[in-house]
Amino acid sequence: MTTAAALGELLYRRSLDDPELLAATDAAPDDRVLPDVHVLKIGGQSLMDRGRAAVLPVVEEILAALPDHKMLIGTGGGTRARHAYALAAELGLPTGVLSDIGSAVAGQNATMLGHLLAKHGIPVVGGGAMAALPLKVADVGAAVFAGMPPYDMWQHVPAEGVIPPYRTDAGCYLVAENYGCRSMIFVKDEDGLYTANPKTDPGAELIPEITVDELVARDLADLVVERPVLDLMRHARFVRQIQIVNGLKPGLLTRALAGEHVGTIISA
Ligand code: ADP
Ligand code: MG
Repeated sequence: MTTAAALGELLYRRSLDDPELLAATDAAPDDRVLPDVHVLKIGGQSLMDRGRAAVLPVVEEILAALPDHKMLIGTGGGTRARHAYALAAELGLPTGVLSDIGSAVAGQNATMLGHLLAKHGIPVVGGGAMAALPLKVADVGAAVFAGMPPYDMWQHVPAEGVIPPYRTDAGCYLVAENYGCRSMIFVKDEDGLYTANPKTDPGAELIPEITVDELVARDLADLVVERPVLDLMRHARFVRQIQIVNGLKPGLLTRALAGEHVGTIISA
């Protein structure tokens, strides 16, 4: 293992892109910050937009899981974000502005979900207060956050168009990976990943498990998670698999939290 002094010497003398320097920074064993915590993403379009029939049973499941599981709960944006993206894109505004707008909508969903959980002491942790997230999880076992990564005007500009490529699926995944969390569970409105969008293709078949490489090679026209999540997973140190479960079917989230293979597991 590289000593701190040797690493410091390299860091002072070399470019930060130097291969030897990069290898040296990788030498120490990685330390997980929140190894016991599950990250859940509660879908925007797929769950929050469906209202109480979809949201309240998921809230019940989260509450029932609290004695056994620590959870960071991220929210998606959904239909209102899409509407705002359409307006902003038509006005010729850039990706960074759309990213900011998407954050606001994911924040609205976090506010609503957080207030449904408030009487159980579960807080919404926003923007600059993300640093308090571990404290809240240690205190009450869970916290809610807006899933959009706070890139705003620093959002990556996509190859085509102006839709921010890193949205709430990516934001939740990055929280899980950087905190070294135990799992990343996407709670949506389908049983998992299919060979095509099951809402528009009646012949779509469920894929219970697949690797990132296999999935990229299949080059499916449409996916159940944002495509950049697959790229992020290729560099994963901790969260080397993600699970997609159907939040409209009671019990599946609970089983996923217990480590059962329900829905689809995509692994790096
Ligand atoms: P969220 O609400 O978390 O943002 P999305 O609505 O963006 O979720 O993504 C979930 C949706 O993705 C599903 O409702 C489904 O209609 C669609 N979808 C597209 N392609 C697929 C696929 N290959 N497998 C499963 N679902 C898919
Ligand atoms: Mg989405």
